[in-house]
Amino acid sequence: MFKAFLIKYGEIGIKGKNRRLFEDALVHQIKYALKPVEGEFSITREQGRIYIEALSDYDYDETIESLRCVFGIVGICPVVLAKEEGFEKLAEDVLQYLEMRYPDKKKTFKVNARRAKKSYPMSSMEVNAALGDRILTAFPEMRVDVHDPDIMVNVEIRGQINIYSEVIPGPGGMPVGTNGKGMLLLSGGIDSPVAGYMIAKRGVKIDAVYFHAPPYTSERAKQKVVDLARIVAKYTGPIYLKVVNFTDIQMYIYEKCPHEELTIIMRRYMMRIAERFAQETGSLGLITGESIGQVASQTMQSLAATDEVCAMPVYRPLIGFDKQEIIGISEKIGTYETSILPYEDCCTIFVAKHPVTKPSLKAIRRSETRLVEQIDEMVEQAVREAETIVVQADVLDL
Ligand code: ATP
Ligand code: MG
Repeated sequence: MFKAFLIKYGEIGIKGKNRRLFEDALVHQIKYALKPVEGEFSITREQGRIYIEALSDYDYDETIESLRCVFGIVGICPVVLAKEEGFEKLAEDVLQYLEMRYPDKKKTFKVNARRAKKSYPMSSMEVNAALGDRILTAFPEMRVDVHDPDIMVNVEIRGQINIYSEVIPGPGGMPVGTNGKGMLLLSGGIDSPVAGYMIAKRGVKIDAVYFHAPPYTSERAKQKVVDLARIVAKYTGPIYLKVVNFTDIQMYIYEKCPHEELTIIMRRYMMRIAERFAQETGSLGLITGESIGQVASQTMQSLAATDEVCAMPVYRPLIGFDKQEIIGISEKIGTYETSILPYEDCCTIFVAKHPVTKPSLKAIRRSETRLVEQIDEMVEQAVREAETIVVQADVLDL
């Protein structure tokens, strides 16, 4: 029954030039999200409002699902857009709206009129009262409840009239592209896709890097990471995913360094390489899925040891989350089912029985000196030969 949607977005803190940027990015992301949806849409912007109008038949559920992935959207309101042709016509439109939208009339309601068009002959209060009367007369089963109504009948009088009563919650946050770009270390696990989602929610565009170790890690493990990136891309827009062959580096560390330090040293090399890509492509920080104490390589000491090797800030949005909370988010955003597929990742193959949990920086640095002969060239080669995959979201199936 709806041909249009009114999009509400958070406006706090977006003034002047920032507001334009915010709205431009939001419209851009809405277009991206609607691309795979059946139907044709036009998107218009008007006085702090974004309207999406369907120009053809379209799939309502798919549209809502897609819009619920767009950061910056606070509310999605299926709206009836009516011409402004006097109060009689308005009353008719509102009654028709209620008739269609609420077949069961045993409901309480409140009219919430807002007159943005100052030349309109009635005040908002007058419209509230007059529409309330009309509704009670037309639908005797309905009752007024001004405190906690079942139906909030919103009527906005502008150049046109907006009639809506539903506000479907959006994800909030800020439109991707309004806060720079970050390089996500994306593994096949549960945490890093969630970390990417969380940072993107703050308006950060995401690139990603995955370290694989063939033949110890399979093509399917890599495909799983691509699949995860594709799900995250529903929210973030296309992701440039670098796939780095990490096998030689990993083997070399394994050969030269104490095995209990392997994970930490490996992670330090991942960070170094990720930072190289970040610098090349204009990312302003690295993003990981770590949280304090989750595993040996995520103690405060271990995190300090990984941080030490990069100059860029490392963003760890899950730092204070329990595993269960992270799983909750991954289920909500649709990555969980893919994350738990059982393909090995490169960290699980060489893990020591008793990895250091409190690495001393001095010891780690000393161990790394054993790598000097070949490691720089290996890193160069890994960077040089990395594959780039442009990952696009496909049709939504959340
Ligand atoms: P995840 O569920 O994200 O894999 P995890 O709990 O398995 O995390 P670790 O394996 O210690 O934790 O990895 C910590 C973080 O390091 C990951 O969240 C991810 O950001 C990064 N990381 C680990 N392995 C890889 C990899 N093979 N490629 C890219 N990034 C990785
Ligand atoms: Mg992992």
